[in-house]
Amino acid sequence: MKSNKLSLKNIHHVYGQERQAGTEAIRHIDLEVRDGELLAIVGASGCGKSTLLNIMCGMIEPTGGEVKIDGERISSGSHRIGYISQTDTLLPWRKIDSNVALGLELEGISKRERLERARQMMALSGLKGFEKMYPHELSGGMRKRAVIIRALIQNPDIIFMDEPFGPLDVFTREALQKEILKMWGERKNTIVYITHDIAEAITLADRIVLLSRRPSVIKNEYIVDLERPRVIEECKYNPKFLQLEKQIWNDIKDELCDADME
Ligand code: ADP
Ligand code: MG
Repeated sequence: MKSNKLSLKNIHHVYGQERQAGTEAIRHIDLEVRDGELLAIVGASGCGKSTLLNIMCGMIEPTGGEVKIDGERISSGSHRIGYISQTDTLLPWRKIDSNVALGLELEGISKRERLERARQMMALSGLKGFEKMYPHELSGGMRKRAVIIRALIQNPDIIFMDEPFGPLDVFTREALQKEILKMWGERKNTIVYITHDIAEAITLADRIVLLSRRPSVIKNEYIVDLERPRVIEECKYNPKFLQLEKQIWNDIKDELCDADME
């Protein structure tokens, strides 16, 4: 049976080796992500989180080591990958429904079917009534919601998210976190979620990996022992939540560069 287990072995990455002084972003990482696991990766800014994610999803070829999904090289194309970055935007000249349906269009699905599927997905995530609007007519949170369902509509086996809610206010973030938990609860895709927000990592993840400062190695790993389904408003006051938050803060402190502390 097909599995969406992801495995990284001996990953090492140096940028710009052709010039003499390369930037060593990743020193050495071994990591396994279980099928259906929601894994969060946290670390200080500049430590190599985006680099690692881009290696995991096959966008960057690492200078050392290998990434496999279900035992096959990531480049084999046998798994559907979804990717959402912090700066992901909608195409401004397209209505929201045809933005959401973009991936289906690239797959060659008929216009009628893809717009119907977009309409269904939009209704499920609170965007009913906005199908025929343009991106600039929606709030930042609604646009982000549309970006998320644009990735989900293709039903990816593994979804990679790189600080997807970075620039949004805390209320919108919480609403979108709920959306992620609901979607994952139903589909159980494998998710790798990068964030610099420790509370967000605890709220969402089964397990959290803390990266050291650059060149990164895995500094620590934490199992998030909180019941599912999680009620975001409540779980953040759970003593286990608070204790884990404190522990991770303590561990990350040593990894912040002087510049981050100013
Ligand atoms: P994070 O996502 O944790 O903030 P990044 O993975 O973006 O960190 O960057 C890790 C390090 O690699 C940083 O020092 C950054 O300047 C460097 N870096 C990132 N992308 C490139 C690139 N394309 N070329 C050269 N250096 C890069
Ligand atoms: Mg980054």
